[in-house]
Amino acid sequence: MSISQNLQRVSQSLPKGVRLVAVSKFHPEEELMEAYEAGQRIFGESHEQELSRKVQVLPKDIRWHFIGHLQTNKVRFIAPYITMIEAVDSLKLLREINKQAARHERVIDVLLELHIAQEASKYGFTLDACRQMLDEGEWRELRNVRICGLMMMASNVDDDSQIRREMMTAADFFDEVKERWFADADYFCERSWGMSDDYPIALECRSTMVRVGTLIFGRRV
Ligand SMILES: *Cc1c(COP(=O)(O)O)cnc(C)c1O
Repeated sequence: MSISQNLQRVSQSLPKGVRLVAVSKFHPEEELMEAYEAGQRIFGESHEQELSRKVQVLPKDIRWHFIGHLQTNKVRFIAPYITMIEAVDSLKLLREINKQAARHERVIDVLLELHIAQEASKYGFTLDACRQMLDEGEWRELRNVRICGLMMMASNVDDDSQIRREMMTAADFFDEVKERWFADADYFCERSWGMSDDYPIALECRSTMVRVGTLIFGRRV
């Protein structure tokens, strides 16, 4: 199967209103171009240098999502062009994105990353840490970032019921956060969960954005 066929198959399996982020990390520009020519416009990358290289040579209407862990000292490199930073896992990072966005007179859309999976992932807010950060309210002063929703990665396990449980926890938490802090904010509407192995489950758990790499581009080398 070609990249464009893979892309078509994944796209067609998504209900209306769910966006596809084509995760292209470690894949060469030609492969992204193939997906672009098949109509894909949102691409996800997780390394700043690789992303910056691709941005220079690929079409300007691509919307780039930064999906990996982002170090604060890398924010300034992507601030001029990034469409969405999906994995904001600290107030410190949020402040830095705000600062760099202001330098470029932009407002950058972000998602807050949740740490729900059982695994020892180092990143993401626990639900309590996220509540506390939102309660403290400093984020309201950060006028150059816009918190558009939540992002999470489920445990990498074969047990579908565990994956479903984790994603439902995230979906329920989204409702809580929406009601308590973003009730009047239409832009707070994104639930980014689901990858190649688990996106069908994510769709059952109210995902609005799936991040799919391997199913489109094949295995990363
Ligand atoms: C790599 C990556 C993906 C895509 O994973 P696949 O299994 O290749 O679909 C999704 N989300 C994040 C945060 C990633 O780092």
